[in-house]
Amino acid sequence: MKIKQLICGSAIASMAVFGAVQAVAEQFVSVGTGGVTGVYYPTGGAICRLVNKDRKMHGIRCSAESTGGSVYNINTVRADELEFGVAQSDWQYHAYRGTSKFADQGKFSDLRAVFSVHPEPFTLIVRKGSGIRKFEDLKGRKINVGNPGSGQRATMEVVMSAFGISMNDFSLAAELKGSEMAQAICDGKIEAMIYTVGHPAAAVTEAASSCDVELASVSGAPINKLVADNSFYRVATIPGGMYAGSPNDTRTFGVGATVITSADVPDKVVYTVVKAVFDNFADFKKLHPAFRNLDEKQMISDGLSAPLHAGAVKYYKERGWM
Ligand code: GLU
Repeated sequence: MKIKQLICGSAIASMAVFGAVQAVAEQFVSVGTGGVTGVYYPTGGAICRLVNKDRKMHGIRCSAESTGGSVYNINTVRADELEFGVAQSDWQYHAYRGTSKFADQGKFSDLRAVFSVHPEPFTLIVRKGSGIRKFEDLKGRKINVGNPGSGQRATMEVVMSAFGISMNDFSLAAELKGSEMAQAICDGKIEAMIYTVGHPAAAVTEAASSCDVELASVSGAPINKLVADNSFYRVATIPGGMYAGSPNDTRTFGVGATVITSADVPDKVVYTVVKAVFDNFADFKKLHPAFRNLDEKQMISDGLSAPLHAGAVKYYKERGWM
């Protein structure tokens, strides 16, 4: 793992002058997130903010990068080009086992879980008056299926196959990024968008405050079967009143957002990141409204199918959580 190191210029200068002064090495770590109007991006920002607060003590500088989403993040951590990534629990599961979308690449045995974060319901947002009330109604419509590399696109393909719907069944299957969907639905370029995302998410708020959209349900026998057959799926409800135009609860299913890393990342780095979050947990929870109901004990077990990283385990044991 290439942890980027920089010997501070000033430290080199001091060494030159005083000879015996220890060089201060700064380690840079990056967290791969998602689109800027999702919840992953602010999640990475929240983690890094707490890490960077004590940078002078531990020497680690953290930055959150906007990326294509879960599948991109997992692949990029695997390629040792990102130290951390946020990823849906379903894709963490499949990446570790080398199943589903990851069958061609094989098992990512060095994949490590760090902790889980907020729940992510699979969310269908439709133009009001489009007549789309549920997932099955998407046939023949102009929709956004998500950018390749995003978790929503990968999960969308699973849901489509559960309902026996193929890409050709849509009159348009756009592949816009999360940050482009709200404008596209309000401009009438698409009639529906899907997003596996925590709530409230800026992309949905943006659409709901700019034009008439509403949430539609994703339920029925195909979804019940997915939930029954796969431990990483659960039924989910998006509470009414979360967004303008959607006063009632919406039934769907969902996954969880998780933070992942690689066994190649040093224990000290993972320990420092985990400690920054959980030593400052009350502050962390205030950094995004989707973190409102987070609970420490659940975060170290729910939705984590890859083994926990040793650096994380060290901290959880110190806290007596394991
Ligand atoms: N769940 C989405 C993904 O895996 C990202 C959601 C977000 O950015 O909050 O790509």
